[in-house]
Amino acid sequence: MHSNTALRVIGEHGGEVDLVAAEWAAGEFLRALGVATDSESLRRTPERMARAYAELFTPRPFDLTTFPNDEGYDELVLARQIPVRSVCEHHLLPFVGVAHVGYLPGDRILGLSKLARIVEHFARRPQVQERLTKQVADWLIDQLHPKGVGVVIEAEHTCMTLRGVQAIGSNTVTSTLLGTLRDDARSRQEFFALTGVHS
Ligand SMILES: [Zn+2]
Repeated sequence: MHSNTALRVIGEHGGEVDLVAAEWAAGEFLRALGVATDSESLRRTPERMARAYAELFTPRPFDLTTFPNDEGYDELVLARQIPVRSVCEHHLLPFVGVAHVGYLPGDRILGLSKLARIVEHFARRPQVQERLTKQVADWLIDQLHPKGVGVVIEAEHTCMTLRGVQAIGSNTVTSTLLGTLRDDARSRQEFFALTGVHS
């Protein structure tokens, strides 16, 4: 048996991207909004829109490598200020912010950079922040079987800050706590103290 295991993670949520159809539709969309696309500057905008959204909706595969927790480390492992870039599924406008992802190790631990990759993986699709938060936490429970998981995301939604109520500078905070981090008040307090988010 190998001393570590690697699990290939690929997109599981859906269909192929049809760039040609997306480019055509983007052109129609702009014309319907009264945006002419016949100038030199805008001529390739439908193509650029199609490519930009295709990139935002396509998770990059990564290898989830876990290692045996030989030292028996049983304190919180926390990655703070992981960048979050996603697109709200209600307006298809970006929301950006940071995630704090922590876990209490069980028998296995994770390469630290992987916590950021997991956040990116679930962010690359039309999302709502609440679901994104829960998906990251659930996935860690399923794949790593830790004693507890905590995920906090703070993000600014441009559908709130650029339009509508124009609540400039407002942040939305969501959190999911599972296992010991949910059930044990001291673990929970430690997690929130280290993330700098008030529970
Ligand atoms: Zn929205």
